Amino acid sequence: MINLLIMGKPGAGKGTQAARLLDYYKLTHISTGDIYREEMAKDSPIGILAKKYIGQGELVPDNVTNDIVRNVLNQKDYPNGFMLDGYPRTKTQAIALDKMLEDLNIHLTAVINVDVEDKVLLVRMAGRRVCSNCGATYHIDFHPSAKEGICDVCGSKLIQREDDLEESVLNRLRIYNEKTKPLLDYYKKKGLLLIVNGEDPTATVFQNIVNKLGE
Ligand code: ADP
Ligand code: ADP
Ligand code: ZN
Repeated sequence: MINLLIMGKPGAGKGTQAARLLDYYKLTHISTGDIYREEMAKDSPIGILAKKYIGQGELVPDNVTNDIVRNVLNQKDYPNGFMLDGYPRTKTQAIALDKMLEDLNIHLTAVINVDVEDKVLLVRMAGRRVCSNCGATYHIDFHPSAKEGICDVCGSKLIQREDDLEESVLNRLRIYNEKTKPLLDYYKKKGLLLIVNGEDPTATVFQNIVNKLGE
């Protein structure tokens, strides 16, 4: 079993690397951002609540997010392990996660931090396009789809995420620095932190993660 957390600033490339790692290690993906986008698309009670926060670039309250992850961890199958993407994002979430894993007698293999400078992120998020149907991620310059505006995987329309507009991006970065960045130290102290340079091309970042996990 390989159980990974992938961390990084918004736009660092977490989702992009997660997609490759999932395929390579056959892991079960648990992305809180994806779960919230699905709930918003369905206009479910959780989706309606989450929308108020996500549109502003704010975090959804910890108790809501913790409940979701606890349910998923208790119910989902992960025969080869899991990849948690976008969770935890606060110290409260990290402590809640420790408790969930302890109850299930599961251990984290590593916490991957995809490290990128702020100015790179702005360019990445401005050009990010996501599939409105399957959530696949593209970039207009760095990872264009074969046919402009159309998903390579499922043929649906690509859209720009509402929270990728500049004002919300700056707010998300501020919140990352305040709430999420301290977690790097938390996992470093546990001896789990593995850092890769996220400014390299996607394939290089991926290879570096696989190499480090093999050590
Ligand atoms: P990005 O890939 O840009 O880092 P995500 O797709 O992971 O963003 O998340 C999108 C939004 O969903 C976040 O800005 C936040 O509002 C909400 N969200 C996702 N995960 C969490 C979490 N663990 N705690 C609170 N809010 C979350
Ligand atoms: P996150 O999940 O951390 O918010 P994404 O994986 O969605 O980040 O990536 C943000 C944007 O940057 C996307 O448009 C993606 O295609 C692009 N991207 C991801 N990794 C790289 C990379 N190593 N080099 C160039 N562009 C990248
Ligand atoms: Zn698609």
